[in-house]
Amino acid sequence: MTEPTHYSLPALPYDYAGLAPAISEEQLRLHHGKHHQAYVNGANAVLEKLDNSRKANVDLDMKATLKELAFHLGGNRMHTMFWENMAPAGKGGGGVPSGMAGKMIAAEFGSFDRFRKEFTQAANSTEGSGWAALTLCLTTMRPLIMQVEKHGVNTYPFRIIMVLDVWEHAYYVDYKNDRAKYVENFWNIVNWDTVNKRLSEALIK
Ligand code: MN
Repeated sequence: MTEPTHYSLPALPYDYAGLAPAISEEQLRLHHGKHHQAYVNGANAVLEKLDNSRKANVDLDMKATLKELAFHLGGNRMHTMFWENMAPAGKGGGGVPSGMAGKMIAAEFGSFDRFRKEFTQAANSTEGSGWAALTLCLTTMRPLIMQVEKHGVNTYPFRIIMVLDVWEHAYYVDYKNDRAKYVENFWNIVNWDTVNKRLSEALIK
């Protein structure tokens, strides 16, 4: 199998209108087609810059270059996970988790309601641009909620299981400054099957 040398924008696993009304078609088109595409283009541009600098045998500002690469790669990876951990409400999206996710959430948080409350608080209080994420620590095998600033990738010991984009560009078309409402409606489109799949992959390591 030939591996791709560059990144490309993944297709959404549903129509642009599929997540409405939690996320409108206009909002999703913009978020996926413009913002996510910009991270894909940005990562590819840094790869080109690295390739060219090597060919020409010139030095780059490595700190700035790698910071830029991490930003765009993180953006690409986080958005890809985000699209996959959502589904149309009532058609794979929403409800309460069953299976391993349901069990682990109940064991760690006491109940799904308590988990939902803590995750919501994390999403609502993430500073600036960032994400709320459900992660799994591979040392303790305990699920942990994490706030990710920008598209931060300083999260290596933890396996990310579920993410929610709380950058303003993710919800401003639909909700203006009402992030809380956007976060509340996210629960109607969580794809728990994907969450369970990621969890079982993480458990195998
Ligand atoms: Mn985003």
